[in-house]
Amino acid sequence: MIILSVIVFFFWKRREKQAKADAIPNVGNRVLMNEVVIPRKKRNLTGEDEVEELELPLIEFEAVVTATEHFSDCKKIGEGGFGIVYKGRLVDGQEVAVKRLSEMSAQGTHEFMNEVRLIAKLQHKNLVQLLGCCVYEGEKILIYEYLENLSLDSHLFDETRSCMLNWQMRFDIINGIARGLLYLHQDSRFRIIHRDLKASNVLLDKNMTPKISDFGMARIFGGDETEANTRKVVGTYGYMSPEYAMNGTFSMKSDVFSFGVLLLEIISGKRNKGFCDSDSNLNLLGCVWRKWKEGQGLEIVDRVIIDSSSPTFRPREILRCMQIGLVCVQERVEDRPMMSSLILMLGSEAALIPQPKHPGYCVSGSSYSSWSKRPDDEFCTVNQITMSIIDAR
Ligand code: ATP
Repeated sequence: MIILSVIVFFFWKRREKQAKADAIPNVGNRVLMNEVVIPRKKRNLTGEDEVEELELPLIEFEAVVTATEHFSDCKKIGEGGFGIVYKGRLVDGQEVAVKRLSEMSAQGTHEFMNEVRLIAKLQHKNLVQLLGCCVYEGEKILIYEYLENLSLDSHLFDETRSCMLNWQMRFDIINGIARGLLYLHQDSRFRIIHRDLKASNVLLDKNMTPKISDFGMARIFGGDETEANTRKVVGTYGYMSPEYAMNGTFSMKSDVFSFGVLLLEIISGKRNKGFCDSDSNLNLLGCVWRKWKEGQGLEIVDRVIIDSSSPTFRPREILRCMQIGLVCVQERVEDRPMMSSLILMLGSEAALIPQPKHPGYCVSGSSYSSWSKRPDDEFCTVNQITMSIIDAR
């Protein structure tokens, strides 16, 4: 009886979903994209793509429905804080990732479109490209380039996949993320603080080129504070800088902190969140810091990249990167370098790297909630949601 009820419920749900999708007015052979002006790219002196002309394609809901086979479960590739992500194929054959935003966004359509248009203008080879959007009744949908190789965390923390990531690949990924972040902070036409850089927000294309995702979501979700302090702290455990988690103060240096955590995760193959050395009760940052001070940094390096017979195994370079990571996660904001300095440190053996001081949170279990409470704690949400902040130059 129970099984029968479950089957009936399942089919009823499917029919309901189908009916909803079928309720879209038949638009016949009307064009599936409006305003399609293919961006013409040119390379600037630093090798970044600059766009000469861009209008954001508005993709019709029917095209999105067709592309995702009616938002079919088998097309679902992930779910984040903003909604479900589907893999889709447009009529011209292009593969795309379709993010169907949840109803959290309180923005009006006009505002949403403006924000999306703005974000679409940000173009860099280390950022996930927004290709278009769709607004239909209550629906707001973003269409991104599809990246074949999933997110960095699904490689880094997976026993089988991590073996494929040798040091050279990891080093290239670190450099790519650094360049994407530099563009957001400094080189684009806006100043953008991501506020939730983490391994699952770095996607990899077919050549394993890293691309930062979710960098414009705060505007879309109406969180466009331009103040350097927010009452609503959003981010992810393990990556947030102490000053942001405790006081809501964010800056480019809070992104630098997250970048440092990410860098140490890439070197060690371990998640900062949840890592605890049973002897010392230190978390990943604390362990790396201790080993580094003892001159035993290589002990914390991911076993799968330690292969002295491999030409890609370069212990000196790994230790330099570890030092760079430690410099980024220093407790005091003013001690952390800007992304432009970090790029120089990563790019040349001759560049001086400062001696790192004590990192922010070292002890495992020093969870954000146990830190000093702010008077407006009811506004403090520390969750898995990505938020970015954009400040026009
Ligand atoms: P959060 O929103 O809390 O930061 P998240 O980053 O995992 O979490 P999403 O950005 O919504 O959430 O992505 C969910 C998953 O969908 C990703 O982990 C990734 O596997 C997949 N995904 C997202 N965008 C793309 C894309 N452009 N190409 C391929 N896969 C994607």
